[in-house]
Amino acid sequence: MNETIGKLDDGYNCERCRNKGLIYTTGEDGELLSNECPDCFNVRASLRLLKNSGLEDKTFENFIAKSDWQSGLLRTVKEFAADTSGKWLFIGGQSGCGKTHLCTAALREIIFTKNRSVRILKWVEASRSLKSAVNDSGYASEADVYKGAEVLYIDDLFKGGGNVISNADLRLTFELLDYRYLKGLTTVISSEFSFDKILRADEAIDSS
Ligand SMILES: [Zn+2]
Repeated sequence: MNETIGKLDDGYNCERCRNKGLIYTTGEDGELLSNECPDCFNVRASLRLLKNSGLEDKTFENFIAKSDWQSGLLRTVKEFAADTSGKWLFIGGQSGCGKTHLCTAALREIIFTKNRSVRILKWVEASRSLKSAVNDSGYASEADVYKGAEVLYIDDLFKGGGNVISNADLRLTFELLDYRYLKGLTTVISSEFSFDKILRADEAIDSS
């Protein structure tokens, strides 16, 4: 059964399970046991998340750089994806500049080459419930999924509040990112806000 070719067609080729996602063994009493394939389980779960977020078709190969700065950005992001150790990726800019595409392509590369599991936090959809639950007992578990993820992608950080970054936004972000920074966990962030603007918002809170 382990030799049978499977039907999983998410684009990842696993030699160990031959794209079945399962490894078969026999138990002590001769019964047939199946376990998730350790070589591709994380990869496939992460690819499913990308797909469910509508991000599965964004790759380095199909990114079209329309100007020199986009070519430069593509190079930088590829370097990050090749070696993420101790590094985070932040891309800030207007919608249409390719930041979601490049962040997703980097995630894809990390998923395919490093067998690491990825979580996606779509700020517009998830931040409201996370912020409103900050004082609830349920908060810990909901936030922990993102805090402790091997690789976290925050898509469109601070989007949805107009041109304003609120105290609640900053508190939630600090809660997530401080933990990840201390643990050295790879983090990818896209935002319509520039890095400078985010830093200034943080300073405004610090001094008030
Ligand atoms: Zn496998």
